[in-house]
Amino acid sequence: MKETVAPPGAELRARAVIDLAAVRANVRTLRDRAPHAALMAVVKADGYGHGAAPCARAAVAAGATWLGTATPQEALALRAPGAGVPADVRIMCWLWTPGGPWREAIEADVDVSVSGMWALEEVTRAARLAGRPARVQLKADTGLGRAGCQPRDWPELVTAAVRAQAEGLLRVTGLWSHFACADEPGHPSIDAQLSQFREMVAYAEARGVEPEVRHIANSPATLTLPESHFDLVRPGIALYGVSPSPAIGTPQELGLRPAMTLSASLSLVKHVPGGHGVSYGHHYVTPGETTLGLVPLGYADGIPRHASSAGPVLVEGKWRTVAGRVAMDQFVVDLGGDEPGPGAEAILFGPGDRGEPTAEDWAQASGTIAYEIVTRIGTRVPRVHVNGEQSG
Ligand SMILES: *Cc1c(COP(=O)(O)O)cnc(C)c1O
Repeated sequence: MKETVAPPGAELRARAVIDLAAVRANVRTLRDRAPHAALMAVVKADGYGHGAAPCARAAVAAGATWLGTATPQEALALRAPGAGVPADVRIMCWLWTPGGPWREAIEADVDVSVSGMWALEEVTRAARLAGRPARVQLKADTGLGRAGCQPRDWPELVTAAVRAQAEGLLRVTGLWSHFACADEPGHPSIDAQLSQFREMVAYAEARGVEPEVRHIANSPATLTLPESHFDLVRPGIALYGVSPSPAIGTPQELGLRPAMTLSASLSLVKHVPGGHGVSYGHHYVTPGETTLGLVPLGYADGIPRHASSAGPVLVEGKWRTVAGRVAMDQFVVDLGGDEPGPGAEAILFGPGDRGEPTAEDWAQASGTIAYEIVTRIGTRVPRVHVNGEQSG
């Protein structure tokens, strides 16, 4: 897969710097937390906004042996030669719709998730055409109520999969499921899902399924729930050094390091009198004579409009707050009389080392979760990958 090449000078305005050494360190931390399981690095949604291929390579360099994506297109892109992912790395994707590229996935040696009969029928048909067996992972709905096969429909799906396996059309390589509330330690649904998963696995195994991997653990479960690790853990957000939830801990407490630093260059600094309205709707009015800084990032770049009058920004060592509404391409901060030059760096979030806010701070300011803050950063913001490949 070709990496995004930013238009010349795009990073002068704003940039998301991705520290691949942090991704590698996070993968090592997660492997230490789940020493008996293999690790699938979840790199869907362009690696949660961090760049799928570079993050996939970093995760593999640090010991991930599987990569996971939502869509088959994301999985196939990782199999393209330009992605630089070794051919022996297993890739799995789980978000299929009828008519999907089953044959391409089979031919690219991608494991496909099957939650229901329609998908099993399509994948076996594609396997006949491809002339080789599909690698199929059967997904159980153990309580999430999203994808996955309901317990009452499981016997039919397992029976059909075992029959197709006997005909040489597929191999059931995995049995898997997904948690609803793993980010709320002690939530009663966690134990309920684990016992439902064990039952559904036992049912399939009793009917002759011999999965290579059984797996259910996302980031919070990888970090807090050893009994959920089985053969494979599937962390996503934690790879990027972001905590799944404050209830699980801060990145620092979890031994994780945020990989993304989002910053912009002030495009204007100016003096304004007191009582001056700022940005659309005049929801901020300067309390006295002051200086305003123009940050050239807006909701088109993924800055939540809900962060209006709330999002924190570090400028010359001081936390400032979004003044008034976030617009499509820009927002304003009140610099309280300070006069940084145009081009001065405004750091929206990063690991926090330089005193800057974190993605979690933006999540709190916007009424959302840190997952959304990093993932929604738009394509107009160039990703600058540092500490890649050889640098340890
Ligand atoms: C996104 C996703 C994950 C990773 O979840 P995190 O909470 O980011 O660790 C794991 N499994 C499935 C099925 C997913 O969709």
